[in-house]
Amino acid sequence: MSAPGFTGAGIDRADHLRLDPERVAELRARADAKLLVLAELDPVLDAEDKLLWSELAGASETIFLGLEDSVPLFAPLVRAAPGQRAWSVFGLLNRMAARDAAIWGAARSLNEWHNRHPFCSACGSGTAPFRAGWGRKCPACAAEHFPRVDPVVIMLAEHEGRVLVGRQHQYPPGRFSALAGFVEPGESIEEAVARELMEEAGIAVSNVRYVASQPWPFPGSLMVACLARAETDALRLDATEIEAAMWVDCAGVAAALAGAADAPFLAPPPYAIAHSLFRRWLDGIQTGETG
Ligand SMILES: [Zn+2]
Repeated sequence: MSAPGFTGAGIDRADHLRLDPERVAELRARADAKLLVLAELDPVLDAEDKLLWSELAGASETIFLGLEDSVPLFAPLVRAAPGQRAWSVFGLLNRMAARDAAIWGAARSLNEWHNRHPFCSACGSGTAPFRAGWGRKCPACAAEHFPRVDPVVIMLAEHEGRVLVGRQHQYPPGRFSALAGFVEPGESIEEAVARELMEEAGIAVSNVRYVASQPWPFPGSLMVACLARAETDALRLDATEIEAAMWVDCAGVAAALAGAADAPFLAPPPYAIAHSLFRRWLDGIQTGETG
């Protein structure tokens, strides 16, 4: 079973080194230290579609990503307007191994967070990076700020061998995916799944099961994929969120994942957790675990 996209970086994050500026300076001075090459916030790929790395020498502000076979890996701290997303990055992701996407995704999320948090949320003063790029500290009030990760539930409701797929207005033509939404303060993953399915599709669900998760670096989400059993297949769509929705059976989902010309919808790309969720639902049907 393939792992979700943006996972499997396989590097030692070496958190114990982050708070030791002398050790980090030593790592930066190493001849074998590598710096991730970024174009704004996007990855740059070599001829084999692998992440491009350069020597660290001369880099000013960096984020310490961790150690790979004791080689220190860094990412540049890039000044970029937050929220910019070039659609071309998704073409690059189609060519990247999950491991490279995971390493780049961490660098992108951290850079987005730094660019969105130049000021202290406690007193309004300008903040500066610390912890080797894994935090920001306020020189005026000493408040410490840490990169945020925003949990998002993404789920398939099942009803008698079919799952619910929907499309948002901004999706490419033909694309349908699992419904999704941010977890709110004061709610569990299971409660967020049930609320989102009721809000967006008007269906009540029970038996919510966790399936898998992935980081999603646009800008810093943790996608939590779940399955849930729908009490009914009658839909009442929230038109502001969902343009269209439909129930699809195993054959339809399998055709979509295979990219068949007669598939009922265009599946999400393999690096998106929705793709993994569809795949695991199908696998579960075959093993009798779901449905
Ligand atoms: Zn402050």
